[in-house]
Amino acid sequence: MKKKLLIIFTGGTIAMKVDPLLHAAIPALNSEEIMSTINNIEEIVDVESINFGNLPSPHILPGHMMEICNIIKSNIHREDISGVIITHGTDTLEETAYFLDLIIDQEKPIIVVGAMRNNSELGYDGSSNLSAAICTASSPRALGKGVLVVMNNEVNAAGEVVKTNTLSLDTFKSPEFGPLGIVDNDEVIFYRDIINRKHIQTENIEEKIGLIKVASGMESDIIDFYIASGYKGIILEALGRGNIPPQMIAGVKRAIANNIPIVMVSRCHTGRVLDTYGYQGGGKHLRDLGVILGGNLPGHKARIQLMLILGKTNNLSTIKDLFEKDNLYTN
Ligand code: ASP
Repeated sequence: MKKKLLIIFTGGTIAMKVDPLLHAAIPALNSEEIMSTINNIEEIVDVESINFGNLPSPHILPGHMMEICNIIKSNIHREDISGVIITHGTDTLEETAYFLDLIIDQEKPIIVVGAMRNNSELGYDGSSNLSAAICTASSPRALGKGVLVVMNNEVNAAGEVVKTNTLSLDTFKSPEFGPLGIVDNDEVIFYRDIINRKHIQTENIEEKIGLIKVASGMESDIIDFYIASGYKGIILEALGRGNIPPQMIAGVKRAIANNIPIVMVSRCHTGRVLDTYGYQGGGKHLRDLGVILGGNLPGHKARIQLMLILGKTNNLSTIKDLFEKDNLYTN
């Protein structure tokens, strides 16, 4: 019997064409038009479509991620649905994918997919990416792998993948460990598994989370701005192994005194943060002040995780325990 997939269309370049007056890509294609770019789909699977919207992904808000999550939660347990695909703009695709991966705890495949070339361009990659997503979502091999990102015939885990290039079709990479698998000859093949997938069960999120990329000579003013503006958590994308200039320490102390958790990750592309250095502003000093270590997550994904954890609790020690537990390479 043919399997049935639920496809939630949210927008992005996969749904765009070049506007002749603007000479720039804008939202244009509806779900039927996107599906019509794929040949012979009806021979492989049945598809049920949900038109969530036609949003460029810079317009996707954490509230939209929660809405997409709720749509998935209310359909994924249906017996007739074998898997779910979300079409999405690539700019914030990894944030939505990671959000869904953290919050949805079930076995059926959930695939996030987009395109780098719009439908007016030669070599529109929406059809091949969506076809590969369909092959993956309908495969029993994808069961229990969490949320996957399928682009350019590669399969990457939501927790590991990042957009690495502004233009290339081969932009989604897992820089730490490489892809989980590939789609070849309409079949998904996995090379490895993911250990330590993390789940955070919450109905609520806290959206006011600041993100600071730390650089040489930076001071506490940006931290003080977030405190004064009512932010409820701050991510520091810190230097190297997890260190900051000493001028930022006063701000870190003020944030923690105001019950605002500070999560530290690294601006390096790979490797975890650790309390290796004991000098002023070094990881050991920061950890002793109460800074939470965010493993090897990039800042924008640590921000998603803190949004979910702060949706559950504002107790600093519970936040630390929840954040540092089960993050790849936190401890
Ligand atoms: N700017 C586009 C978006 O994220 C890029 C894309 O979809 O590839 O909506």
